[in-house]
Amino acid sequence: MIKAKHSLGKSPLFWIAVLLIQTLGLSGQSLDSVNRCATMESYWFGLRSRGDSSHPLEIANQRINAYLAEKKALRQTEFEVINIPVVVHVIHNEPSGAIGGSGNANITEEQIRSQIRILNEDYRKIPGTPGDNDNPVGVDTKIGFYLADVAPDGSQTNGITRTYYSAKSVFNPYADAQLLAGIISWPTDQYLNIWVCALSGNYLGVAQFPSLSGFPGLDDSQAEEALTDGVIIDYRAFGDRGAVPSNNYDMGRTTTHEVGHWFGLLHIWGDARCGDDYCDDTPWAEGSNTTSCNERFSNCRGSRTRNMIENYMDYSPDRCMNIFTFNQMERMHAVLELSPRRAKLVENARKAKLEESEKLQVQVFPNPVVDKMVNVEIRHKGYQDVTISITDLQGHVHETSRIEKMWSRLVSLPVSNLSRGVYLLVISNESGEKNVSRFVVN
Ligand code: ZN
Repeated sequence: MIKAKHSLGKSPLFWIAVLLIQTLGLSGQSLDSVNRCATMESYWFGLRSRGDSSHPLEIANQRINAYLAEKKALRQTEFEVINIPVVVHVIHNEPSGAIGGSGNANITEEQIRSQIRILNEDYRKIPGTPGDNDNPVGVDTKIGFYLADVAPDGSQTNGITRTYYSAKSVFNPYADAQLLAGIISWPTDQYLNIWVCALSGNYLGVAQFPSLSGFPGLDDSQAEEALTDGVIIDYRAFGDRGAVPSNNYDMGRTTTHEVGHWFGLLHIWGDARCGDDYCDDTPWAEGSNTTSCNERFSNCRGSRTRNMIENYMDYSPDRCMNIFTFNQMERMHAVLELSPRRAKLVENARKAKLEESEKLQVQVFPNPVVDKMVNVEIRHKGYQDVTISITDLQGHVHETSRIEKMWSRLVSLPVSNLSRGVYLLVISNESGEKNVSRFVVN
């Protein structure tokens, strides 16, 4: 059964409300009267500011529906576990660089790690955690998350960046995505980027929907989208400790919800009265749930049904939430295959861990280099220090980097500073092995 379509359009009054919220800001906010999610608003805002009259989300939904119908016909119901590398960019206004404490956006590593733990509990429905549930349609989505251990330049990382930004302490969830991405962004086809900062308008978080058409770099709007692709979360709603005050939003579900949008999920009420989220196993709802966990009922399509207030894609308080449904899981996995940037991320994450080999083996690609990045698959025995140098044919060294203790894996190196020509990539490891490969920059 396919639910009927609806319009996601917004009235002029809505935009006046948005402007008012932006103007008022959030000084002294208690996070008790919050705007849970700015994702739909941000989506419309982005289209309007680009003068774009298309509705890419609607097109994406149709493509996902067609894909799922085909899969169903082929009776493909297996889902492979996919682990997503995450980078958390902390943007703060703390000149001393002091970490932690209430009211400080420069949150602790412990707080950040609590959020990654919660994402796994919720998406994997881990027994004995708040993410567990016994609802017949509640599933383990087979999607996991880990803080990235390799930075874009191949160096080791804890998956956390910290940036002091003096020009602004509070960011607008619609208008500042580009600003935040300009401050710092890791390749969005390799990492799920999460920016953590103070948000204006009492907003807790915002996400960018997946793009199902085109490839990054094809045109300006695609390039911009590629840069800002990720989620932005207010530091007071990120994880379950540290700077998170005790309120309705203190169990890390803001990020669970926003990452759901990043995987292409819609709100369960379809952002319209009895609107469609394209998931048959989330009951119709007249609207969002808000500040309590009391049961709510809707009258949609001539029948009375109980709202699934436990769904992560509702606006319920964190403590009520513990369900992703089977249809939601299907849609997320479909997006991971259909969205070029998401598919690339999954492919890169898989490649990032390679089978080890007895002897040093190196593969350089693409060759000639594309997009000013050269990818190198390095396989060796165990866990070793590796030195990578780029020299020209005259033996001049252009670049040297050392990676401490790495497993066999893919390393991507930026080569934007190299002029056209043929170069040598020299790789040596602590066992004394050495490999020299050629590559071409056009
Ligand atoms: Zn939302």
